[in-house]
Amino acid sequence: MHIPFNRPFVSGKELEFIQEAIGHWRISGDGVFTQKCHGLLEKELGLPKALLTTSCTHALEMTALLLRIEPGDEVILPSFTFVSTANAFVLRGARPVFVDIRPDTLNIDETQIERSLTSKTKAIVVVHYAGVGCEMDAILELSRKYNVPVVEDNAHGLFGSYRGRYLGTFGALASLSFHETKNFICGEGGALLINDRQYIERAEIIREKGTNRSRFFRGQVDKYTWVDVGSSYLPSDILAAFLCAQLEDRETIQANRKRVWESYDAQLKNWAAEHGIQVPFVPPHCAQPYHMYFLVLPSLETREALMAHLTSRGIYSVFHYLPLHLSAMGREFGGKEGDCPVTEDTSDRLLRLPFYTGMTEAEQEEVIAALREFRFS
Ligand SMILES: *Cc1c(COP(=O)(O)O)cnc(C)c1O
Repeated sequence: MHIPFNRPFVSGKELEFIQEAIGHWRISGDGVFTQKCHGLLEKELGLPKALLTTSCTHALEMTALLLRIEPGDEVILPSFTFVSTANAFVLRGARPVFVDIRPDTLNIDETQIERSLTSKTKAIVVVHYAGVGCEMDAILELSRKYNVPVVEDNAHGLFGSYRGRYLGTFGALASLSFHETKNFICGEGGALLINDRQYIERAEIIREKGTNRSRFFRGQVDKYTWVDVGSSYLPSDILAAFLCAQLEDRETIQANRKRVWESYDAQLKNWAAEHGIQVPFVPPHCAQPYHMYFLVLPSLETREALMAHLTSRGIYSVFHYLPLHLSAMGREFGGKEGDCPVTEDTSDRLLRLPFYTGMTEAEQEEVIAALREFRFS
């Protein structure tokens, strides 16, 4: 049997909705299905504005524009994240200031943020790793104390929550991803979530090529024109139709992923403890959205050997983020070994197990059996 790391899930109504979108004779951005997705996200999450974008990367680029990031500014973020979390701000000339992660949740270590704040800091960008919430109480307190906005890269965490409040509703701005490796997908896609209303009008302009086209369509102005910087960040309504089918089916999708996650956890916990392997930790005040299951092995060598062992059984596991501060770009910003020791150490040892909506029990049993067969040397 061949078990992929990820298999995109189709919930059932995607093609029907795409057909319907085509039937509306309007498949550019902000059509019927885009509006439905906006409404659903706003209502479910309880936030003032959600805007679909072509990717999470683009939603992050929009946040950098909205916060008027300029050359010389600094942005605080974890080193243990995807490239886009940094690039969106670097693209505007900012210097990324990398902060280490907590060894338990692998989220930004909130106790290390304050000493990195300077008069040049223009944003604190947090990533809810695996959809487990960062320590938002402490982070929001720093945000208020230093008057620096928080941005949440919530690519993993849609419908996850921290102290009963949804992730993506804490920061002034937040981003979501609907890339095919995430919980809810449309191939490539994302969303910008706006909690601070002062950004709504300009976000609509930036997303529509720097024009006031959104106001024009609402009849608030009689012609649309160039009013600000911007780009084309809105997806086709065909993609929104695909996504809408997934979002409407969110309970089934999440229940399915919960089963997969809990089954891994129940069956691997004791085995992991016996072999000195760390498994995901979810603090009691966090509700996770079951985005991934991973193992942190005792060493890089064990990780590589286990990965090869699984591959030999036709099972595809993957490692995750390489520390951004040690990447070619990170080093140009002065990153060096030892800057973020927990990130460096964890990145070498982490292995993500195959995890996808619709993963069968038989597939999962096979992964678990293969893990148990592995000989630790
Ligand atoms: C997937 C991911 C992104 C990028 O998402 P795209 O939609 O592919 O641009 C950004 N940040 C994190 C943390 C991610 O996991």
